This record gives sequence, structure tokens and C-alpha cells, in this order.
Amino acid sequence: MNIAPLDPPARLLMGPGPISAYPSVLRAMSSPLIGQYDPFMTATMTETQELYRQVWATSNDATLLIDGTSRAGIEAAIVSLVKPGDRVLVPVFGRFGHLLAEIAERALAEVHTIEVEWGQVVPVSAIEEAIVRVKPHLLALVQGDTSTTMNQPLDEVGELCAKHGVLFYTDATASLGGNEFDADAWGIDAATAGLQKCLGGPSGSAPITLSDRAVEVIRSRKRIEAGIREEGDESSPDFIRSNYFDLGMILDYWGPRRLNHHTEATSMLYAARECARVMLTEGRSAVIDRHRVAGAAMLAGVEGLGLTVFGDVAHKMNNVVAVEIPEGLPGDEARGALLEDFGIEIGTSFGPLHGRVWRIGTMGANARKDTVLTTLAALEAVLRRYGVSVPAGGGVEAAADVFAASSVREAM
Ligand SMILES: *Cc1c(COP(=O)(O)O)cnc(C)c1O
Repeated sequence: MNIAPLDPPARLLMGPGPISAYPSVLRAMSSPLIGQYDPFMTATMTETQELYRQVWATSNDATLLIDGTSRAGIEAAIVSLVKPGDRVLVPVFGRFGHLLAEIAERALAEVHTIEVEWGQVVPVSAIEEAIVRVKPHLLALVQGDTSTTMNQPLDEVGELCAKHGVLFYTDATASLGGNEFDADAWGIDAATAGLQKCLGGPSGSAPITLSDRAVEVIRSRKRIEAGIREEGDESSPDFIRSNYFDLGMILDYWGPRRLNHHTEATSMLYAARECARVMLTEGRSAVIDRHRVAGAAMLAGVEGLGLTVFGDVAHKMNNVVAVEIPEGLPGDEARGALLEDFGIEIGTSFGPLHGRVWRIGTMGANARKDTVLTTLAALEAVLRRYGVSVPAGGGVEAAADVFAASSVREAM
């Protein structure tokens, strides 16, 4: 049998995630495996926790990784913080708000949602009104929703939650690393992310951080540990209804007791550590600035091509832009041509935006001048081939102007 070794095509991933990883992240992932209690392993876990405290801007002791994609982090947070019957409030402004609501429903919470039209963020006053009306145990709010590109302001929400005694969880998967995020200053009790957006890694590890208050709630659930079960029958709502996502057990594994739970995904730990190392070496705010400039350049570029940007641009995430597909143009076919002829991937859309917009990302390793200009040049060529009349060089020129006017250096 002669089976060729795996040889994926070279792609420039300029969609809403996953993105092309930093080369050093891929190298870190090919490092040798070690045992889960090897002193190097436990030291690397501890060091990775410290790095992610800086990434999240928190002093939370409970800062760690959940093994699995971003939704593993979401699910761990929700099933561990929410008991059956607890009220959960989910403001929905895109697809991922619906996901939080669904996961909370599966956790048998009493879920209340408020919704705004896609392309908008939720006014803080509407969140407060709903908190007062619903009196939730937990507010679950997405920060950056890639489905609409919106970046929900969080800075005043933590204070609201504290005032009303509500736990505050946010899904920062799409935004962390490319937009401001201040876990402690914003009063966030629980936040989760993934690597495959602005952090510049592959999917498969979900950084999470938990405030002391969140840890207390988790610790108040009944514990099952090494075959010993606390008093109470298994129908008690106090038991966390998942083993894999039981944050109490996961905290004990990452904590000083190192109680065995799962086997930490070693190669993903290496990847997560390297993503944080890259970010902190370049500088946290420098990386956010780099995303801001690359995103502004991409926005100017698509407008320079005569395309219309979707949504409330004032609240757009730095790292992704949605553009309306020109009337009459077969969007998926043109996207396919971009992939096939140029090796560049951009994103399609979901729900009400399906067939209406493409989503173009500038994240992690690809929040860079050359990738932005290459994408715009290729997009122009594809648009022309489909008979769309576009200003010659209008995209590249407008984007290059943004880079020229910025003082941000690409230090990566
Ligand atoms: C991309 C994204 C996710 C992705 O979840 P995965 O399980 O890693 O696929 C989750 N939440 C938000 C807000 C996202 O943008």
C-alpha cells in the first residue's frame, strides 16, 4: 500500500476563522510529547496559566485551558455555573448568542433572550432593563460575534451585573487578542475563547478565566471526586451534569492538587502557550493595534473596490468585515474562484445573512499588510471576471494608504 503523506494545499485563510496559524505555533505543536505529571508538563501548564492571565488582563487564579474547541469552553462555563432551573439571560445579536441560549437550555436553565437586528449591538440600557425584569442568575453575552462582525461593548456591563447580583459570562472567542478585553477592569466573572481567531492558532483549545465569585459558585455544586460522591442523590440539581466539563474537577487538575481528570492535550497546550507567547512578546496592545490597522485597511480596501460594508461599522470588531455581495453575482462561486485560483479563503455567512454577505478576516498572523493587499488584489480580479465593474487598483490603493498613515509596526 502506498499512501501519500498528508500534504494540505497552501492556503491564505482570510475568513472569519479558522485562520492561518503563526508558524511558530505549528512548530511548537510538533514538540516531543511528555507524560502528564512530568515536571516539565506541570511547569508548562502553570506557566501557560500565567501567560493567559496577561492575555485576559486578569489576576484570576482560575485561568486555564479547556481541551476542545471554543464551544467546549462555553459549555464548561455554562454547565458548571448554571443549575437546572436557574434563570439565564442571553442578549442575542447574532448566531453565537443563539448558541449560548441553546447550551443554557440543554443545561435545563430557564433561558430568557432579548434580541436586536443582525448588524447592531445591544444597548446597555436594554441589558439593564432585562436584568431588572428577569433577575437572572447568569448573564451570558457574546463579545465579538463573527456572524455579524459586531463587537458588543462590555465595559459597563460588569458593573450592572455586580449591582444586581448577577454572574457575568462572556464568549470572547472571536475578539480576544484583536480587540480590547479587560477581564478584571470590566468585572467579568467568566470568559472563554479559542485559539483559531485573533490568537493565531488552530482550533482545539479553549482558554477560560473565572473570577473568585465564579469559582465559589462552582465549588458550591456537589462534588464527585475519585469515586467518592458527596451526600445527595444523583437527581440533585447540585451535581454538574457533565464529567468532561465539570469545572470543579478541571480546576483540581490544574490546581496544586493535580487530581487526575482528563489527560491534558499536550500538543494543544504547546499551541496555546505559543499563541500567548507570540502575543505577549510583540506586546498585548501592539497586537491589538496591528489588528485595528489591518482591519481598517481591509475596510477601506473593500470600500475602495466599491463594495458596501454590512452593519454598524462603529461597533465592528477590528478583525472581520462583512461586505455585501454585489447584486446578481453568484457569491459562493466567486468565493470558490478566489480559493481555487488564488488559494485565498474568505467566509460565507449564516442565517439571515446567508448569500447576502462575505466575511473577510484579518486575524492573528494574517493581520498584516501583505495579506490584506494580496486579498484585495485577488478579490478585484475575481470581481472583474464576474463582470462587476470595479475601480482599477482601488482596493489595494485605499488599503495601502491606511497602512502608510499608521505608525503601527509589524513586529511579528
Ligand atoms: C468562531 C466562534 C466560536 C467557535 O466555536 P468553535 O467551537 O471553536 O468552533 C464560538 N464563539 C464565537 C463568538 C465565535 O466567533
